[in-house]
Formats: sequence, structure tokens, C-alpha cells
Amino acid sequence: MNKTTLLPPGSTIGIIGNGQLGRMTALAAARLGYMCHVYGPDTDSPAEQVALKATVAAYDDHDALVAFADAVDVVTFEFENIPYESVQLLTQHVEVRPGWNCLQISQDRLIEKTFINDCGIETAPFKGVNSLAELEEAVDALGRPCILKTTRMGYDGKGQALIRPETELHVAYESMSNAPSVLEGFVDFQREISVIVARSACGQWTAFEPAENVHVDGILDTSTVPANVPDGIVEEAVRIAVTLAEKMEIVGLLAVEMFHTKDDRLIVNEVAPRPHNSGHWTQDACYSDQFEQFVRAVCGLPLGSVERRNDLVMKNLIGFDVEKWPDYLNEPNAKLHLYGKASTRRGRKMGHVNLVYPLGELLKE
Ligand code: AMP
Repeated sequence: MNKTTLLPPGSTIGIIGNGQLGRMTALAAARLGYMCHVYGPDTDSPAEQVALKATVAAYDDHDALVAFADAVDVVTFEFENIPYESVQLLTQHVEVRPGWNCLQISQDRLIEKTFINDCGIETAPFKGVNSLAELEEAVDALGRPCILKTTRMGYDGKGQALIRPETELHVAYESMSNAPSVLEGFVDFQREISVIVARSACGQWTAFEPAENVHVDGILDTSTVPANVPDGIVEEAVRIAVTLAEKMEIVGLLAVEMFHTKDDRLIVNEVAPRPHNSGHWTQDACYSDQFEQFVRAVCGLPLGSVERRNDLVMKNLIGFDVEKWPDYLNEPNAKLHLYGKASTRRGRKMGHVNLVYPLGELLKE
């Protein structure tokens, strides 16, 4: 398959990662007549339950990666933290969408923020930190409060330490377990929003409108559409997300999380070249949701309509929240999505519920 070839229904999509994002991608793919083969280290995974095939192997198992690549027609990712050598190996055997450059940028917060700034887009001020002395210097430069984050493998607020006026720096530094880190200035935002862009190999793109996101303990709690922001901010958020998707040469999806500051600026927090939790609202509000757009983009199909048909609040079911599932089934406006995870743990994403409201209902005074 070359860069612009259409991969017809009946083909097999290989998905690296076998969590809930892979599961919902496989379900969307099935609706369009595709099959999915998922790859990841966990047995009894959410994606495996709904995929045609599953390879259970480590992300650096070269024999398993080659066998996987040879068994599928295209490879994509629902999880981007896989080693460079593994992507390189896959690329020798099969078309990989999106390409390595996107993964490399989004895997490392320092590379990511530098790239975003080079595109002329603002991030929080930041400094790389590799020692306690560098942390002390960086805190002097950026001021308190500020946030220390590991450069790699951080998600859902993991690998982060908020440095308050009274925080002892050696304690914050030690909490990173000597991992290379980045110190970020604290953004005193009025709200958080995100935009998800789909982009195809020929450069066609569509952007879902911004969702307004609320995080609790660093984990997404709710996403609401429409976001309560002025029209100018909606347009600027879409412009930023599309610019980044084009500069990263995304084929697939790019999710861009942003802070809307009190003085009406947009500051990018992070990007993810894959479906995103803050895009789950699209499943019950748009003709073509983020997972379908992802499949369409990766398979070289025309992108669908991202028009929104209703207002919506997406609520994540984290940990034991999931025990409320029978209640949601009794709510006429609630659409329940469960991920099939065998065991419930605190902080684990178990499912979500999309609460649907008539168009125009949520921003009524
Ligand atoms: P992250 O893992 O970088 O997405 O951070 C998780 C959450 O922590 C974000 O969605 C924000 O709510 C908060 N956060 C992260 N970085 C900052 C920052 N520089 N200033 C203020 N809040 C932040």
C-alpha cells in the first residue's frame, strides 16, 4: 500500500495497544466492514474482546512485531509509548499511520513543547530538569507554584508533582525517581478545552468543535459540548489544532489539550496522535465520531461529517463509579459505554456515560 492508497473494507487494521481506545476503534472499524488485529502486553484486554485477532506480546518483542505486521494491511496506534526500534521494524513490513515523527514528538514532553513553540504556538513556560540543582534553578526562573513532570510515560496526572510555596524541592525531585523531567510554569486557567482533528494522507482534515474538560486529581472527569467559550476562542482553538496536525503530518487523529487563560489566550498543554478520552462525546453527538474518523483517515477513506446534533456531557466512570451502571440504564438521556475490564481499581478508567441534551440546552442562561 502506498501513502495515498485506499484500503478497502474487508482489510485488516493492526492496532498497537489493546485498551479501551483500541476497543472502540475496533467497534467503529467493524461497522465499516474492517477487521482488527490488536497488539499489546496484557491478556484479557478491552480491545481483545472485540477484535478478530489479538497478539499478546511486549512492545519490544521483534519476532512478534514482524509476525503482526505481516498479518495486517496497515498499522496504527491507540497507545503511543512504544520504542523507536519497534516502529522502525513495523515500517519495514507494512504502512504505519501515523508515522514515527508524530510518536517521537508526543512521547517526550520536552520535544513536544519545543515543537509546539517552533510552530509559533504558546505552551506554559518550561525548563528541562535532570538534577536537583537544575530543579532549583528552574524554580527560581519560573516561580511558584509550578509543576514538575516526567518527560516520558506520564499520563492521567501520573509522574507529576505540584510545587507549592512550601514544597521542599528535594522531595519533589525524589518523587520523579531520577527520571528526566520538565518543570512547567503553573497556568492560572479559566477552563480547559480540547480539539480533535482528523487528517487523511492526502491532507484533507476535519476538526470536532472544542469540548470543555474538567479534571479531578489529574484525570479527566467530564467533557462538555458546547464549551462555554466565545466564538473567537473556538476558531483559534481549531486553528491551533489543525496547524499542529499539518506540521506533524498526521494521518489519523490528533487530540490537542489547551488551557483557556483568564486573559483569553490559548496555551497548549499536550497533544496525542490517537483517539482521546476528551473525544468520547462525539460517539453520541456526531454523525461520524472520533473512532470512525480515525478508521477513515487510516484507511484512506473520505472523512465524515463532524456536525454536532445535540449537546452532551461525557462523564468518565473511574474506579468504583462504574458500580452505578444500573442507574444510568434507567436514565433516558444516558448512553452507557463500558470497557469490559475484569477488575475494578481506584483511578482505573472503567467506562463512560454520555448524557445527551437537546441542542442549545446546556448554555441556556
Ligand atoms: P497532563 O498530564 O499534563 O495532561 O496534566 C493533567 C492535568 O493537570 C491537566 O489537565 C491540568 O488540569 C493540570 N495541569 C497540568 N499542567 C498544568 C500547568 N502547567 N498549569 C496548570 N495546571 C496544569
